[in-house]
Amino acid sequence: MYLLLVEDDLGLGQALHKLLLRHYRVHWVRSLASARRHFDAAEYDAMLLDLGLPDGDGVDWLRTLRAEGCLMPVLIISARDQLDDRVKGLDTGADDYLVKPFEPDELLARIRVLLRRQSGVAQPRITSGALSFATESRQFYLSDEAVNFSPKEHQILAVLIQAGGKPVSRERLTQQLYGLGDAADSNTLEVHIHALRKVLGKDRIETLRGFGYRLVAR
Ligand code: CA
Repeated sequence: MYLLLVEDDLGLGQALHKLLLRHYRVHWVRSLASARRHFDAAEYDAMLLDLGLPDGDGVDWLRTLRAEGCLMPVLIISARDQLDDRVKGLDTGADDYLVKPFEPDELLARIRVLLRRQSGVAQPRITSGALSFATESRQFYLSDEAVNFSPKEHQILAVLIQAGGKPVSRERLTQQLYGLGDAADSNTLEVHIHALRKVLGKDRIETLRGFGYRLVAR
């Protein structure tokens, strides 16, 4: 198991690195730029991600990774302990959120859960009825024929299929399109859903009134 540890604090980073090395292969980086470089260059099984980094916010990078279809388990480790921060982190696609300071044993236990869960999640292809999504190439297939969508429709559908039939909130889908903080026009999401339904069939994407959407396997 190979972990990417993103933590800029020297003392904490050193302590975590030492702790994790007893159990895993670990690469420790101290900036987002470095994290991106190493992420692109190697295959990691999970990532521990600090949020307040010298060159940006870990949540912004995580959002990009998820929008690109990355399924790697991510545990946020942050001193931000407000409910809003935790909800935002989890909504952005973190698998878990641990508030600093934490006990080493708790961190190790949470990592074990992440890695266990991952063995069931990291499939090369996710299938929903006749539709499938190759997670590495990010190609969609309909009845085993490659099918292409516009970039935004692709992102929406990638999120829906990775939710494995679970409802996905309108906020989360809108965030995938525009990022938090931008004025998002919810009608635009409707337009993309409409376009997707034209290709997939009307009843494949269910509207959950007041919440969001769900991909239905038919
Ligand atoms: Ca930090």
